[in-house]
Amino acid sequence: MNRRRHVMLVLAGVVLGAGAMFFHNHRARFIAGGAMVNVGYSLQDPLQDFDFAHDENITPAEVWQEVLAQNQMATSVRKRFPRTARHPVVAIVACMDARIDTSELTGDTRKYYYVVRTAGSVMSEKEEEMLELAVENGVKVVVWTRHTDCAAEKAAKSPTAREHFPFLTAAIDERDKRLREFLARPTIASRIAAGELLVKAINIDTMTEEMIAADLPAPTAELPEEELFCYDNDQQQG
Ligand SMILES: [Zn+2]
Repeated sequence: MNRRRHVMLVLAGVVLGAGAMFFHNHRARFIAGGAMVNVGYSLQDPLQDFDFAHDENITPAEVWQEVLAQNQMATSVRKRFPRTARHPVVAIVACMDARIDTSELTGDTRKYYYVVRTAGSVMSEKEEEMLELAVENGVKVVVWTRHTDCAAEKAAKSPTAREHFPFLTAAIDERDKRLREFLARPTIASRIAAGELLVKAINIDTMTEEMIAADLPAPTAELPEEELFCYDNDQQQG
């Protein structure tokens, strides 16, 4: 009996020790957290009850009710288990395509990222300013992404779609120009030169969400002044 008790005590000690080690091993906790999030995905993903795209009878009002109900559920959980706010050091520009999940891109659910989402990751002066504001707020890495099978890129290649969406398709055409413009902004250029900021271009595989390194457009120095900072909205209507 004593021997059994002794074994139980040793076992409890081992379990407690392993638990304490796990708690202090931040990498292990991070991976375990990601694994649990994936358990949640695998529970929810197969559900078709509210497959908004394929339930042809669902009305806009029903969709809205479901959005509200899901928000209520999520909010009630969040009120009970508040999350820790972190200050982002990375800003991501990504397409609005729902298949791209920016938390999954980095396997990180801790709200560590500023995210700017537009169709085709297009940028105008406004988005450039958003990124610069993020940099001034402490961002050290800006990641500009595009992705495979992008509907906005396809639209830019279709004459009919170009007629229907003249602004979006024109913005797709000038993505490189906007990136060069962003890189040439004084705050951005000086921080890159000082080694305080990295700007990366990435191509995302839409099916696997793998980030594949891509090239940024060539530097700005040789570009004529008018191509860098002067845009006439009337010209964009083409
Ligand atoms: Zn897209």
